[in-house]
Amino acid sequence: MDLSRHFLISCILSILLFPLYGASSFLVFLSGFLIDIDHYIWYALKFRDLNLKNSYVFHKKRKQLIEIDRLHIFHVFEFWLLILIISLIFYIPTIMIGLVIHLIMDFSEMPITSKNLRSTSLILWLYKYKV
Ligand SMILES: [Zn+2]
Repeated sequence: MDLSRHFLISCILSILLFPLYGASSFLVFLSGFLIDIDHYIWYALKFRDLNLKNSYVFHKKRKQLIEIDRLHIFHVFEFWLLILIISLIFYIPTIMIGLVIHLIMDFSEMPITSKNLRSTSLILWLYKYKV
């Protein structure tokens, strides 16, 4: 999670797409940057700590992330599918563009051999923990 990179790329893309999509190009920024709010939600629930800075510092330390199974609710397949359906039904491709760019940046930061335990499926996570 590199918030400054997500912020910058989403902003630039939102501005570049403005002539094409008008005000809805702002959704590129929202879906490309604010989607990482789920990291804070997970941290706050897991550690009972609402301090935003603590959450940011925690997620910047990659070593400890490897050892903890995390469910970031906006980084799961089911959410991506929901966003795809919404963007198709209401014809708002900008929300999907922001999401795809965000995920490309996220996955490009992870080495292939990474033992990252972030769940990519809500259903599999629920099954795994028998919730
Ligand atoms: Zn992310």
